[in-house]
Amino acid sequence: MRETASFLLEDALACRENRDAYFQKGLDYLSSNSIGGMIRDKRYRFHWNINLYIETLKHCNAHCAFCINEVNFEHQDIADEKFLHNLEKAIATVRFLDPSIQLVGGEPSIAPKRVRAIFELIQKYELRKPIITSNGSGFVLHDGLLEDIAPQLAHLNISRHHDDEEMGNKIMGFENPLTNALLAEMMRDKTIAPKIRLNCCLLECGIRTYEDMERYLAWAMQMGVNNICFSTLSALPDDYFYDPKIIEQTSKNAVHINPLMTKVTEDARFSFLKFHTGSHCMYEVWQYTRNGKKCVVVFTVSNNHFARKLDQMDDLIELLVFHADGVLAGSWNRDCKVIQ
Ligand code: SF4
Repeated sequence: MRETASFLLEDALACRENRDAYFQKGLDYLSSNSIGGMIRDKRYRFHWNINLYIETLKHCNAHCAFCINEVNFEHQDIADEKFLHNLEKAIATVRFLDPSIQLVGGEPSIAPKRVRAIFELIQKYELRKPIITSNGSGFVLHDGLLEDIAPQLAHLNISRHHDDEEMGNKIMGFENPLTNALLAEMMRDKTIAPKIRLNCCLLECGIRTYEDMERYLAWAMQMGVNNICFSTLSALPDDYFYDPKIIEQTSKNAVHINPLMTKVTEDARFSFLKFHTGSHCMYEVWQYTRNGKKCVVVFTVSNNHFARKLDQMDDLIELLVFHADGVLAGSWNRDCKVIQ
């Protein structure tokens, strides 16, 4: 078995045949290639290129049946003042790791005051590569928000699980104010457009066939989108912190990606760029060409059984999460590897 990152298609093909072995390899690689650091008298091993996720708000205005944020641990939103005070402390603590930043939720964009304040901290501490993952609704509801943060924003990942607006709204359980027409308008803004990536979760009740994917790509590319991620629902352990309803949904609604990837490999419009395996998330990056236009297409597969394995390694930290209740942890589990 070769490296965890590769520009060779044969490595991606080998991985498709035995994903668990590659997740284990990603976990082993992390374990032996981490960098050491002390926080409050405790020695940790950190990922060499770590990301700090800021759970901007637990609340979300959408209701996706497969939302991985439905967890069993105590987890509440807190007032802005306390949130921002704790966040600044957390940033000061982990700044020596030079983390990249990603705002996630719940839904970040429906908390405009908080998002603006977080971006002020990003500027103050010169934090790198800020990304927001969002359903996009708040950028319609709150005039000027996106324009205000755009100069610093590296990417805006918009979750869009279907090209058909009605189907998309049904999947996300709300009427998204960011309609297809408004998304197309956003793509006409020369400053914002290059920063937009669409995230489409492959679902049995949504985009599930190769033809669905082709139609989605055509829809997105005619708006000018040139960066799209298709992801699968993560396998979830049933004896950890996930709500049983979500576990049921993720197994019922999950699409088997390998048959789709076989078609991608055979389709001359796709050319392979690279492959990477982390400890519980792996991706293949391809370039898709349509009517002379090019689009980067990423296919991701994750498995949270391996995230759980990582959580059991007390000193090994692949990612940092500032949770919505003001706690900084080295895990998506708010009670695991609590740093501050
Ligand atoms: S938009 Fe994201 S955070 Fe909101 S319900 Fe859907 S999956 Fe969960």
